[in-house]
Formats: sequence, C-alpha cells, structure tokens
Amino acid sequence: MKAFVFSEPYKTEWREVPEPVLAEPYGAILSPVAVCACTSDVHTVFGGGKPKQTNHVLGHECVAKVVKTGAQVKDFKAGDIVAVPAITPDWRAVASQEGCERHAGEHFSGHRLGRTIPGVFAERFAIPDADTTLAHIPQGVTLKQALMCVDVMTTGLTGAEYAEINTGDTVCVLGIGPIGLMAIAGAAHMGAARIIAVGSRPKCVEAAKLYGASDVISYRDGDVVERVLAMTSGNGPDCVVIAGGGDEVFTQAVDMVKYGRGVISNVNYYGGDGALAFPKFSGGRGMAGKTIHTELAKGGRARIERMLKMVEYGRIDPEPLVTHTFYGFENIEKAFLLTKEKPADLIKAAVIINEVDL
Ligand code: NAP
Ligand code: ZN
Repeated sequence: MKAFVFSEPYKTEWREVPEPVLAEPYGAILSPVAVCACTSDVHTVFGGGKPKQTNHVLGHECVAKVVKTGAQVKDFKAGDIVAVPAITPDWRAVASQEGCERHAGEHFSGHRLGRTIPGVFAERFAIPDADTTLAHIPQGVTLKQALMCVDVMTTGLTGAEYAEINTGDTVCVLGIGPIGLMAIAGAAHMGAARIIAVGSRPKCVEAAKLYGASDVISYRDGDVVERVLAMTSGNGPDCVVIAGGGDEVFTQAVDMVKYGRGVISNVNYYGGDGALAFPKFSGGRGMAGKTIHTELAKGGRARIERMLKMVEYGRIDPEPLVTHTFYGFENIEKAFLLTKEKPADLIKAAVIINEVDL
C-alpha cells in the first residue's frame, strides 16, 4: 500500500510499504477518512537535533474508518468512523495507572503514531488497543471539527490546563498558530479575564480575537517582555502558555510571568540540541516563585471524547482553524509542504480522503 514517509533528515517520499498487521486481541486496522498535517510532522523531518527514527510513515492527526478489529475489542466495529488521538498512551502500563501515561516506560511513549509506530499518512494503519484509544464522534460534530479535536484542541487545552488559570487571571499566550489559538479558547473557558496573545500573521490574529484574546501584539514589533510588562503595570501575567516561537520564548516567559505565583505552561517544541536559557535575574536567582510545566498533549480515548463533547455542546468550535482543504490521499504531501511554508493565510491544512456522513 502507499504511504508518505520520513525517509531521512530533511527528506520525505511516497513509498510502497507493507500492510499493517492487526494486533490481537485488542488492536484495530483503520483507513484514514481525513487527515491533517501538523507542525510536529514538519519538526520531525526538518527539526534537526538528535537522530530520529527514519524510514517511517508520518502523520498523527486523523479521523478514520475502522476496517478490522481484534477479537476482544468491545466498543468499535468495522465501518465505524472514529477520531484517532494523536497521543495514544498504553493504558495497560503500570506507569499509566500512576498518572504517567504519556511517558510510561520511556519519555514520549504516548506519542507513538508517526514516531514509534507507523503513522496515519498511509492507506491503512494499525492501532494496538482500540477500546482505550479510539473516540466515538457524537452526532452533529463535523468531520473537520473532529479532526481538530485529536491533536490541536487537546494540545491547546493541555497548555491552558497546566497554566493553572484562576478566574480573573491575566494570561499571556506566546504563539497563535492552531495550538496557541486553542490555548486561548481554553484560557477563556477556564475564567481568564485578560488574554494577551502574541503572534503576527493576520489570519491568526483574527482567530485569536474570535477565541477570546483581549489584546494581540506582534513579536515583530519590538520587545515582547517590555510590552507585556507595560500592559500589566509591571507585574506581568499570572500565567503564560508557550505555544510557538524559538528558544527565546522560554526565556521571555520566565522574564514576564508574575513573581510569587506565576505559572508557565510550555507545549512548544524546541528543535536542535543544547539548553534553554533560564534568566537568573527575573528567575529570582532560582527563588522567584515561578512554576514551569512542560507537557505533551493529553491523549487517549476519554480525553478526545471530552474534546468532542466540548464541540457537541457548542463550547468551542475548532472548525475555523481549517483554512485550507485538499481532497484526495495524494494531496497529503501538499498539505505537509504548506504547513512547512506557513503562508500568511494558513492556520491548518486538512486533507479529505473520503467524504463521509458522520
Ligand atoms: P505554528 O502554526 O507554527 O504557530 C506558531 C506560532 O508561534 C505562530 O503564531 C507564530 O507567529 C508564533 N511565533 C513565532 N515566533 C514567535 C515568537 N518569537 N514569539 C511569539 N510567537 C512566535 O505552530 P502550531 O502548530 O500552533 O504548534 C505550536 C507548537 O506546539 C509547535 O512547536 C509544535 O511542535 C508544538 N506542539 C506540541 C504538542 C505537544 O504535545 N506538546 C502537540 C502539537 C504541537 P506567526 O503568526 O508570525 O506565524
Ligand atoms: Zn499534530
């Protein structure tokens, strides 16, 4: 079967790859109905740093049709259209039972699709454990909305959740691509009073306002830290969510977040090797009372069904994030390249492989 493969650093290609094998008794084989390209796919191919597994099928954002299930799968059957979480923890691992499901056994173990098991940019793919992974899509939720739940929405909301937002807080969201935009939506839901968004492309600025940003500033127009401090009477925001930018944004977050109770929640990816800079002065020489969380998105079935429920009941509509839609399996490469190029009007590029009624 055909698949879009990360062949070596900085290179992708279409290849014939073996059919996936059904993992008995809990697994499933699925066929993608709609997929999205992700900044993380771009980082996998072009991110540099320590060697990654090459000759690997890319892709982890998908709504799919179940083709076949293992003998012990209870809740899904062939023909079902399901949302496939980007993060697929092994819920049978003891570490998962202790709350460490995203890093059980080894770090990032929950990020399997397109990383340690073949991804969704293929005619078919396998999931090791269907009942704990796949998510039912409620009636009324559209294909594109479901597609936005599997990674973008859960990651943005993970960012907001770890920022420990309290009612009335001032929250700064650094980066307003799809992840930052969903962090804004999450912050608004969690009771943030003021949400300062930092980004530049007009389409994202417009969406930031739609999802609840009260102020939007561009990192291209001067010192972000100085401006955010000036906007907050020198105190800084209570919470900072980092959802974009290079190594410098980590330092900026520590510089700006409030002393004593400031919380930084990072869901951003830092490419290459080396270290991020923790500023000694604004970091209180190690005693500033500033908390830093660094998190992979929450995943698995229950989490994605919660995201879908937020959509079902009209709390968040992630569909406006899909600015570009391609039709046909072969256009996965176009969506991937567009995600790398980031034209001014792009938020997310989706590929509809088969139009289906949900
Ligand atoms: P994206 O589309 O590239 O968006 C990045 C945003 O950051 C854009 O708004 C960009 O502004 C902005 N930006 C760039 N430089 C900046 C700076 N110096 N200061 C502030 N903002 C800056 O990326 P995405 O798809 O939203 O993903 C965001 C990050 O989350 C990526 O690193 C991705 O790999 C990571 N991610 C993590 C997880 C996880 O599980 N933790 C899951 C998915 C993605 P412009 O408007 O100028 O483009
Ligand atoms: Zn993704």
